[in-house]
Amino acid sequence: RLEIRNIVRRFDGRRVVDDVSLTIQPGDVTCLLGPSGCGKSTTLRMIAGVDMQDEGEIYVDGKLICDTVFRVPPERRQIGLMFQDFALFPHLSVGDNVAFGLRDGKAEKRRRAGELLERVGLSRFIDDFPHQLSGGEQQRVALARALAPRPRIMLMDEPFSGLDNRLRDGIRDETLALLKEEGTSVLLVTHEPEEAMRMADEIALMRGGQIVQRGAPYNIYNRPVDKAAVAFFSDVN
Ligand code: ATP
Ligand code: MG
Repeated sequence: RLEIRNIVRRFDGRRVVDDVSLTIQPGDVTCLLGPSGCGKSTTLRMIAGVDMQDEGEIYVDGKLICDTVFRVPPERRQIGLMFQDFALFPHLSVGDNVAFGLRDGKAEKRRRAGELLERVGLSRFIDDFPHQLSGGEQQRVALARALAPRPRIMLMDEPFSGLDNRLRDGIRDETLALLKEEGTSVLLVTHEPEEAMRMADEIALMRGGQIVQRGAPYNIYNRPVDKAAVAFFSDVN
């Protein structure tokens, strides 16, 4: 379980993330949904540990991983990351890309890479290089890589936005199925209401650095908190 308590992040005196609290239940997909610039990526970066909040605490399974003085380094948080521009390493084979974050021996690394590539339907590419794969295939390899170390929580920042529409739906569903299978909790950032409606168990609607509403997709869609939320959802059908 991921728990964020009263997180504040200031840039140049501006509260870009302004007292955000959020709990993500095990195995749930929570979407952080909001317009461009509202503070979504900044929030994710603090959870990942690549940025540090000015106020507030973050807990994983009740254990403090970060407050304003104490901080568990990113690589020891058991948190996986998948960002839009989180590219594969071009000089490593597909298999080595997937195994990159693992600390096991060579044989075990290859076994785990093979297992995950199998799951995303790409095991035949294990010895190929990223440039030999299509964009959608590379995205699936990136997913396999993010899952390889068995993270408890997966943070995804617009991971599908680089894909064309036709590919995107398939990969979204596939990703979701795989994450559910692994029992990974997910925090997915998106500015597209449709994506959140499709993927989320819970939506947290963010605006101006604050979470203004949260709940099941159906409830948020049917009972938006205010006119701005109505407008934001108006292009979903
Ligand atoms: P988008 O949907 O466009 O990705 P976002 O919700 O992810 O938007 P953030 O990247 O979190 O938005 O940025 C929120 C605000 O914080 C923006 O106004 C941005 O300019 C500002 N900001 C982010 N990082 C920094 C930084 N390192 N220095 C100064 N300002 C920053
Ligand atoms: Mg962003």
